[in-house]
Amino acid sequence: MKKVPFITKEQAQNIIKEVPTPFHLYDEKGIRENARKLREAFSWNKGFQEYFAVKATPNPTILRILKEEGCGVDCASMTELMMAEKLGFAGEDIMFSSNDTPAEEFVYAREIEATINLDDITHIDFLKEAAGLPKKISCRFNPGGKFAIANTIMDNPGDAKYGMTRPQMTEAFKKLKALGVEEFGMHSFLASNTVTNDYYPTLAGILFKTAVELKEETGVKISFINLSGGIGVPYTEDKEPNDILAIGEGVRKAYEEILVPAGMGDVKIFTELGRFMLAPYGHVVTTAIHEKHTHKEYIGVDACAVNLMRPAIYGAYHHITVLGKEDAAKDHVYDVTGSLCENCDKFAVDRNLPEIEMGDILVIHDTGAHGFSMGYNYNGKLKSAEVLLREDGSIRLIRRKETPEDYFRTLEGFWDVDM
Ligand SMILES: *Cc1c(COP(=O)(O)O)cnc(C)c1O
Repeated sequence: MKKVPFITKEQAQNIIKEVPTPFHLYDEKGIRENARKLREAFSWNKGFQEYFAVKATPNPTILRILKEEGCGVDCASMTELMMAEKLGFAGEDIMFSSNDTPAEEFVYAREIEATINLDDITHIDFLKEAAGLPKKISCRFNPGGKFAIANTIMDNPGDAKYGMTRPQMTEAFKKLKALGVEEFGMHSFLASNTVTNDYYPTLAGILFKTAVELKEETGVKISFINLSGGIGVPYTEDKEPNDILAIGEGVRKAYEEILVPAGMGDVKIFTELGRFMLAPYGHVVTTAIHEKHTHKEYIGVDACAVNLMRPAIYGAYHHITVLGKEDAAKDHVYDVTGSLCENCDKFAVDRNLPEIEMGDILVIHDTGAHGFSMGYNYNGKLKSAEVLLREDGSIRLIRRKETPEDYFRTLEGFWDVDM
């Protein structure tokens, strides 16, 4: 599907008067409409809840918007839990799907009554010692092997560090039940960024069957099944977006076929989507500041991998639009680079684009999830601002850019030394 920015050149120029590039821009209207569609897709399930994966976009304003749309949050660290609590998410609204979890995080999660999703069977004793066991708990399942849909391998759970094996799930449920846990949930995340309407229904089929088995084997009450994240977005124009209504319908069919006949028609369906909720509704807005003609044609922009790491880490494709040149012929081939002293700091390699002039504003698409949040401070580069484009077209700064003072703050005594 053709990628069209959610701002025009003129809008971008107006924003830049207040907030210089580079910055992350989020589209409130898009976020809200998409969240409503997800809710509609699963409206057949009483108790459906989306727990937004905070790590994707840990900005309080974004989380508040999602809260208004009825979402909870999925956290995996102390600061994510703290942010959730501060924003008024409480108890049932917080899923704690962590792994390799420090004791103090379990303690805090118990304190704020987040639902704990145990990553491993050995964590039962660890949690019991650290914070005591709750009445309701979830266990993360990893069936191992390769995860395929119709002979296409989607991902490799057998190589993933997360979750418990099938026999461990039985053992864990039995043990937890013996220790007084009354309500159980199951969770599994088997493939990432899937651009097919079959992922959730296939995963649901596996989890629902396992849930029925577990109930028979252990006699526990399974009250929710968490399909976690993994619904993707098309980063390239040759792919079509997922149809969330079709996905919801596919999960409903599996539910009717497997859970309802087993007397489990009251099981709540949970999701922990991150990318699907936010990625398309974020842009990195950046300005072309250098052109370089050597062995290749380079355009240097004022953003770098610190602002968006996915291309550098995964070689990920992010579509680029040169604002004001949306319909111009893409008759130039460029590498679009950032300024890090790392050759992987390239937003695009051998990309067909319209001719770029210095000062042109570029939009990097689909950066609303796992964008800003993955950033680091390599080369002493500072993180950018985040800006919200509101439904009425006005803008709001929702995170200022970092300053050198922020960067130096953790260096004990640094400011005391004469420079
Ligand atoms: C990262 C993560 C998610 C969200 O994944 P997306 O690919 O953004 O949908 C959900 N649950 C857990 C446990 C995660 O680690």
